[in-house]
Amino acid sequence: MNSYESLLETITPTSGATREILDPATGAVVGLAPFDTVDDLDRAVLGAVAVQPAWAALGHAARSETLLRAADAIDAAAEALAELLSREQGKPMNGPNARFEVGGASAWLRAAAGTPLESEVVVDDGSTHAVMHYRPIGVVGAIGPWNWPMMITIWQIAPALRMGNAVVVKPSEYTPLSVLALVAVINQVLPAGLVTVVSGDREVGARLSSHPDIGKVMFTGSTATGKAIIRSSADTVKRLTLELGGNDAGIVLADADPTAIAEGLFWGAFINTGQTCAALKRLYVHDDIYEEVCTALTKVAAAIPMGVGVDEKSLLGPLQNKAQFDIVAGLVDAAKASGARVLLGGNPVAGQPGYFYPVTLIADIDKDHPLVLEEQFGPALPIIRYSSVDEVVALANGVDVGLGGSVWSADLVQAREVAARLETGTVWINAHGAVHPMIPFGGSKQSGYGLEFGVEGLKALGVPQVING
Ligand code: NAD
Repeated sequence: MNSYESLLETITPTSGATREILDPATGAVVGLAPFDTVDDLDRAVLGAVAVQPAWAALGHAARSETLLRAADAIDAAAEALAELLSREQGKPMNGPNARFEVGGASAWLRAAAGTPLESEVVVDDGSTHAVMHYRPIGVVGAIGPWNWPMMITIWQIAPALRMGNAVVVKPSEYTPLSVLALVAVINQVLPAGLVTVVSGDREVGARLSSHPDIGKVMFTGSTATGKAIIRSSADTVKRLTLELGGNDAGIVLADADPTAIAEGLFWGAFINTGQTCAALKRLYVHDDIYEEVCTALTKVAAAIPMGVGVDEKSLLGPLQNKAQFDIVAGLVDAAKASGARVLLGGNPVAGQPGYFYPVTLIADIDKDHPLVLEEQFGPALPIIRYSSVDEVVALANGVDVGLGGSVWSADLVQAREVAARLETGTVWINAHGAVHPMIPFGGSKQSGYGLEFGVEGLKALGVPQVING
């Protein structure tokens, strides 16, 4: 599986219904994905139920050793995986994009394999001896989005496997090939039937989240779909980890150095061309340095090359699909019509192939404009003025989601004080969006619940059991 073509061959269906997957940069056909149905899902779950007990019986050490070999398999196929990901998702090979994502998938798999999880003695006082253990759940369902399809699939399945579960994966209908290929690679090592991809529509996702033999759903996607999953999982009282939408605020305090922070602000907002859950989506800048930050950010942004992903020079790519392109274009058009000042971009070239939307910076925009209050999920950043810390904290907290946020300042003590006032799962200081396999990650408010990564992430894929006695 050393070339992207040979990798693709291993996942191309030989029978059954298929759909063409198109390259969002060129419109060319990337490959064919199976069009799986709820019957296929039911078969995958049956298979998972059959093989899970033997996998659980292996114990942590043997499972971890197998998962490390699966990570080796990812590393061996890394370049082919990255090229397929780039062609299907649109993200460039270089920068924090396709090669970075495949490397992350391998790193997170290794971390899930290598993180110790000890039973916890909760009371041992001579008369009571109570120990908390984590038992496997059984079969876990994993439903993912199209923005980081390989990395997020690993985030969902790696801790599930480590904890002794089998997994049925339902990838986004926009990026099934990336997930099918990744799973084909790790399945060279894993027992047959332990991880199965069911490449279907949302009906398949809906069935998965109500399936009586699935004990937990790991879901990453929009808040609207998260709510649908809560409803459809209710009858079977499934455990859920919900990583949902965000609208992260970045707050630049008056003492920040505009030139020093400009590059960090740029990548915080425009990583994966803005199609990232915990990207900086609203930038609040203190009045005193507003123009300087706008100027410094515009200078950085204007110099970053956007283009077809497999062109080694590109660092930004197209939007992944037409629906997302239309959302971004609509929000920016509305901002322009409202009289906001366009610092950069806002002018997509019509009549060219690909869903390319230029990097767009919008200044002097109303604090309640939809480009500020809605998740744009693309390369368009609103920059809002503020004059007091109390005011900006209220603005940052004034949305019903709370995934991440950031504070930018030369004064770490003050920055941490402001950070503690933000109603989000993570706050970064002088950075935005960096994730780490050992640092728990999750949302607050309608960005979801449950933690991923590290020991907390492993615990979330087990059923806690106290043995008292
Ligand atoms: P989406 O909610 O439209 O789709 C996600 C997945 O859910 C797809 O596989 C889809 O087929 C499936 N699905 C749709 N309806 C379903 C239903 N009723 N039951 C079960 N499954 C169903 O999201 P998207 O557009 O693919 O992804 C973008 C969104 O994901 C953004 O809001 C982004 O912020 C969010 N996201 C969050 C995180 C995080 O960690 N919090 C990470 C990445 C993306």
